[in-house]
Amino acid sequence: MATTDASTTGSCSSMPTSNRPDPNTSGGAMAGAAPTPEKLAACLSYLRAVRGSATQFFALLAQQGEGSENLMLFDVSTKKEEQADTETKIKTVLDDLMKNVKTLQCEVSSLSPIVGNSTQSNLDLLSLDPATDKQQLHHQLRQCYIWMDKVYNYSTMSHMLIGHSHLNRSQMPNPLSVSKRRRPPAISNNVNVPQQQVDALILSINKQFQDMMLTVSRPMGSNAIVQVTLGQLLRGVITLRGLLIEAVLIRGYNESFLDHQGREDIFKPSQLAVFQRVTDNASAAMLHFCSPYLADLSIRSFFTWLHSFSNLFTEPCTKCNCTVSNNSPPTWREFRTLLPYHQHCRP
Ligand SMILES: [Zn+2]
Repeated sequence: MATTDASTTGSCSSMPTSNRPDPNTSGGAMAGAAPTPEKLAACLSYLRAVRGSATQFFALLAQQGEGSENLMLFDVSTKKEEQADTETKIKTVLDDLMKNVKTLQCEVSSLSPIVGNSTQSNLDLLSLDPATDKQQLHHQLRQCYIWMDKVYNYSTMSHMLIGHSHLNRSQMPNPLSVSKRRRPPAISNNVNVPQQQVDALILSINKQFQDMMLTVSRPMGSNAIVQVTLGQLLRGVITLRGLLIEAVLIRGYNESFLDHQGREDIFKPSQLAVFQRVTDNASAAMLHFCSPYLADLSIRSFFTWLHSFSNLFTEPCTKCNCTVSNNSPPTWREFRTLLPYHQHCRP
C-alpha cells in the first residue's frame, strides 16, 4: 500500500494538492506512534507534496519575472490585471505550501522520538530497504552484532581466568602479560650509562682473567678507553661509548701506546703485520658480539674472545696443525669455540 502511494505521488510535482496522501489511511497526526513502514511511506509522500508545492511556487515566481518584461510593451490596465491574477495564484500556491509543510512537520515530529535513537532502530530501518540485493544485510548485520557480543563475553571471561591463573608466576612466557608486553627496549640505556657501571663491569672482567690487565681512562670525557695488556704478548685499546664498543686497536707488547703529546694513541695502527691482522679480526669480533639488548654480555664475550690470543704464538692451527703458516701464526679465533685458525684455514 505504501509503495503504491509513493508511486502515485511521484508524479505530483505539478499537482501536489490533489495527489496528497489520504490522512485516514496514512495515520494523520499520530504523536508517539511506532514507525511502521506505512507511516514512513506517508511521511515520504508528504515530503514529495512539499517539494511539488515549492516547485510550483518558484515556477510562478519565474513566470511573473518573464511576464513583467513582456508587459512593458502593453498598456497599463492590462499590466495591472495580469499582475493581480499572478499574485492571487502565488498566494494560493504559497498557502498550499505552508499547509503541506505543517502537515509534514507534524508527521515527522511524531516519528522523531523513536527514529534514530538507538542501534536497534537503525537496524530496523535497514530491514526496510526495498532493494533486493540489500535484503540480506539486515540478517548479516544482526548476526554480526550477536557474535560481537559473544566474543566480548568470552574475552572478558578469559581475561578473568588468565589474570588469576598461576601461570603468571611460572617461568613460562605469558604473551598476555602487560608488564612484559609494554617493556620498552633498552637500546638507549647502553649509551648513556653511569661511569660507575662501566668501571664495575671492567673491574669484574679484570678479575675474571688473571693474565689480562684492563685499565680504564677517560681522556675524551665521559666515554671510557680500556687499555688491555695480555701477558707480555700484546696490548689493546678498546674505545667504548657507554656500554658499546666503538673501536678496537691491537698492538704488540713493546709498541708505544702514547702519541707524541703523551696521550693514549687510539688511531695509530701496529707496525707488525701479525697485530694488524689481529686488529682486523678483533674488529670483526666486536661486530659479531655486539648486542644492543645485552651490552654487558657482549663486552664480556668480546674480552673472553680477546683473551684466547694468549697462546697466539704457541698454539698450532686447529686445521693444519701448524704453528706458523705463510709466515703467520694462527691469528683467527673461532667465535664460539675460541679454537685457533690461520686466516686461510678458517672454517
Ligand atoms: Zn692452519
